[in-house]
Amino acid sequence: MTFALTETQEMIRTTARSFAEEQLAPGAIERDEHSTFPAEQVRAMAELGFMGMMVPEEWGGAGLDTVSYALAEAEISRVDASCGVIMSVNNSLVCYGLNEFGTPAQKNAFLKDLASGRKLGAFALSEPEAGSDASNLHTLAQKDGDHYILNGTKNWTTNGSTADLVLVMASTDRSKGPKGISTFIVPKGTPGFTVAKKEKKLGIRASDTVSLSFTDCRIPAANRIGEEGAGFRFAMKTLDGGRIGIAAQALGIAQASLDASLSYAKERKAFGRPIAELQGIQFKIAEMATQVEAARHLVLKAAWLKDSGEPYGTAAAMAKLFASRVAVESALEAIQIHGGYGYVQEYRVERYLRDAKVTEIYEGTSEIQRIVIARSLLR
Ligand SMILES: Cc1cc2nc3c(=O)[nH]c(=O)nc-3n(C[C@H](O)[C@H](O)[C@H](O)COP(=O)(O)OP(=O)(O)OC[C@H]3O[C@@H](n4cnc5c(N)ncnc54)[C@H](O)[C@@H]3O)c2cc1C
Repeated sequence: MTFALTETQEMIRTTARSFAEEQLAPGAIERDEHSTFPAEQVRAMAELGFMGMMVPEEWGGAGLDTVSYALAEAEISRVDASCGVIMSVNNSLVCYGLNEFGTPAQKNAFLKDLASGRKLGAFALSEPEAGSDASNLHTLAQKDGDHYILNGTKNWTTNGSTADLVLVMASTDRSKGPKGISTFIVPKGTPGFTVAKKEKKLGIRASDTVSLSFTDCRIPAANRIGEEGAGFRFAMKTLDGGRIGIAAQALGIAQASLDASLSYAKERKAFGRPIAELQGIQFKIAEMATQVEAARHLVLKAAWLKDSGEPYGTAAAMAKLFASRVAVESALEAIQIHGGYGYVQEYRVERYLRDAKVTEIYEGTSEIQRIVIARSLLR
């Protein structure tokens, strides 16, 4: 057993860190304040190969492992968690799904552009009445010759209005429940596909979260991923890997909270000396650092299991459950260490708290992660 990173993994981590500090940090506060999508920054991430990290080079990706992806995702999110979620959805939901389950023709037509970052993808599973209860889909896909006709609404779609294509899960037969669900590739501009409401969010405000509407939207049957009825399995399998990405995003936010606390505690003086010399502050920092390190181990273990071809669903759920909690708790503690300055925008840590919260909600809430973990233990 070794905890050492390979040379490539270390290089990816260092590259991602300096890129984030040099190119994402400037403007992160303003993009958050005005909910501005970081189009230019996403293009720069694509140039580094960060938008399709785990896709083989023949399909336009960087051909890297999941550990490298998790390291980069954490470094990007350490500076700008909005960029982190844009990257995570494109990598671990859209590109992974197409690479794993798509046909060569679909990979040629869609994956190459997505993995190289020339195009951006979105993943639309959730609906007004289907969040945790993800198989309760009301969006219908009715077969019509060599096409399907989509009707329905999707909620909360990350990258939804900026994406060039969306992977849409819809029911071809509601009486079959999860076994009646299929996944369709729906390119932007398909008649009947429109962006509805844009959400105003607590955190990750520079990312794009919208509802999507489908009205008599004709999709070629060739755009169905996998067999008819395989869509729920597709979604669950894809989300297993997605949770590693969100756990890494949470780890990045937690690390940012720790780093900000360390430097502030050394600078800020109270009672004639830096607050870092107060044992009460030292205890907070020691506790936070231990939690962040434990989260890192869970995230990298889940990524390593995936790279090793071992089952990783439970490990991914554990990593997400734990790292998301650590992100929220670390951000809260960072605000406390910053005192009044922690409560204002300029010192960044208030954003960390707002950004951290969603990691306990999307790609399965913490309650759903506990269900996934308990089920696997009790099987
Ligand atoms: C910013 C943002 C971006 C998102 N991006 C995407 C995206 O790109 N694509 C996508 O498809 N979805 C996306 N989502 C949706 C997200 O995955 C769902 O919000 C999440 O799965 C929870 O579903 P819900 O909101 O319907 O809550 P509900 O399922 O209604 O849950 C409400 C509460 O009940 C709890 N609960 C539900 N069932 C159980 C149970 N069996 N046992 C115990 N407690 C339970 C939940 O944990 C939660 O606390 C996004 C959400 C947000 C906020």
